[in-house]
Amino acid sequence: MAAFSLDLDDDQIQLKDWLHGFAADVIRPAAEEWDEREETPWPIIQEAAKIGLYDLGFFANTFADPTGLSMAITCEELCWGDAGIAMALLGSTLAVSGIMANGTPEQQAEWVPQCFGTPDKIQLGAFGVSEPDAGSDVSSLRTRAVYDAATDEWVLNGTKTWITNGGIADVHVIVAAVDPELKARGHASFVIPPNTPGLRQGQKFKKMGIRASHTAEVILEDVRLPGSCLLGGKDKLDERLARAREGKSNKSQAAMATFEASRPLVGAQAIGIARAAYEYALEYAKERVQFGRPIIENQSIAFKLADMKTEIDAARLLVWRACWMGATRKPFLNGEGSMSKLKAGEVAVKATEEAIQILGGYGYVREYPVERWHRDSKIYTIFEGTSEIQRLVIARNVSGVHIK
Ligand SMILES: Cc1cc2nc3c(=O)[nH]c(=O)nc-3n(C[C@H](O)[C@H](O)[C@H](O)COP(=O)(O)OP(=O)(O)OC[C@H]3O[C@@H](n4cnc5c(N)ncnc54)[C@H](O)[C@@H]3O)c2cc1C
Repeated sequence: MAAFSLDLDDDQIQLKDWLHGFAADVIRPAAEEWDEREETPWPIIQEAAKIGLYDLGFFANTFADPTGLSMAITCEELCWGDAGIAMALLGSTLAVSGIMANGTPEQQAEWVPQCFGTPDKIQLGAFGVSEPDAGSDVSSLRTRAVYDAATDEWVLNGTKTWITNGGIADVHVIVAAVDPELKARGHASFVIPPNTPGLRQGQKFKKMGIRASHTAEVILEDVRLPGSCLLGGKDKLDERLARAREGKSNKSQAAMATFEASRPLVGAQAIGIARAAYEYALEYAKERVQFGRPIIENQSIAFKLADMKTEIDAARLLVWRACWMGATRKPFLNGEGSMSKLKAGEVAVKATEEAIQILGGYGYVREYPVERWHRDSKIYTIFEGTSEIQRLVIARNVSGVHIK
C-alpha cells in the first residue's frame, strides 16, 4: 500500500511536465477558438491521440497509480489549459468508468478500447444517466429497458439529457430502469454499440461554459440490443433484482461509493481552472499600474490573491486526500469524495470571479481569458452532483441522519 506523501515521485513529475507542455502549447492557444465555435475540437483530440494522450493505455496507466494522484494531476493540468477542451479529451472516460464498474472482463475488453479508437480513427464514449425529470434524483429514471426473451434482446426507450458527447459518441453507456418499482436498485447499464438503429441525438445545448465539450440529448426509440450488451450479464442482474425485491440489496450504496471515488477527479479539473485564473491575475496585478504603482501593492488586491492561493491549495489537499483514499480503498466515511468536489467547485467559481475583479474591465471582455474561465468554472458546482447534493452526502455521512 502506498504511503501518503505530498512529494510527487519522478514519474508523477514527468507526467505533470508533459501534460503541462501539451496544455500550454496546444490546448490553451486553441481555447478561445473552440469556445467561440462551440464544437468538439477534433484536431486537438487528434493531436492528443498522436502523442498517446487520448489513448486507452495512457488512461489505464494513469488510473493504475497506487497513490491515486496521477489522474488528479492529469485533470488539473488539462483544465489549466482549457476546461472545455479538457472535457472533450476526458468525456470518454465517463463511459469507460461505467463499463469498468459494471461490465464483465469480456465486455470491458470489447468496449473500452472502442471508447477511444486509434489516432487514425478517433472514437468517443458517452455516459447517460440524467434525464429531463431525473437529474439529482437519479432514482426516478423513466428510460425503460424491457427484455424480449424470444430474441434475447433488450428494448430501450427514453430520453437522456445533458449528455457529454451524447449522440456523437461511438459507444454510449446508458443507465435504464429494468424494474421501476425498485427505483435505483432496479437500474441496469447497457452498452449501445456504434450505429445502433433507434439512438439519435436530440437537441445540442448552447452553454455558458465548457463550450468545446459537446452536450446533447440522446433519444432512444425502440433501441434493440443483444443480451450481451447488458453490462454484467443477465444472471447477475436477475440475482441482484431478486435480492432487491427481498429488501437485501445495497446496490445504491455501491453506486454511491463509485461516485465518491470519481468526484475528486472532477474537483481536480476545477482546481486547474482556478489555478489558471490565479496565476493570470497575479501576473496582471504586478504589471497593471494605477495611481503610479502596481495594483498588487494595494492590500485589497494582494489579499485577494493570498486568499485565492490559500483556497486553491486547500481544495487540492482535499482532492489529493480523496484520490489517495480511493486508490488505497479507504472507506469515505465522511463523504470525503464529495467534500473535495464541493470545495474545489466553489473555489473555482470564487477564484475566477476574483480574477475578473483584479483585471477590472479587462476581466470582463473576451479579449482576456478570465471571463471564459469564470464561465467554465460554474459547471463544477452543477454536474457530477450539485454542491447541494455534495453537502447532502457529507451531512448524511457525518450525522448518520437521513437529512433531506
Ligand atoms: C454541461 C453538462 C454536462 C453534463 N454531462 C452529463 C453526462 O455526461 N452524463 C449524465 O448523465 N449527466 C450529465 N450532466 C447532468 C448533470 O449531472 C445534472 O445537470 C446534475 O446532476 C443536476 O441535475 P439537474 O440539472 O436536473 O438539476 P436538479 O436535480 O433539478 O436540481 C436543481 C436544483 O435543485 C437542487 N436540489 C435538487 N435536489 C435537492 C435536494 N434533495 N436537496 C437540496 N437541493 C436539491 C440542486 O442542487 C439544484 O440547485 C451534465 C450536465 C451539464 C450541464
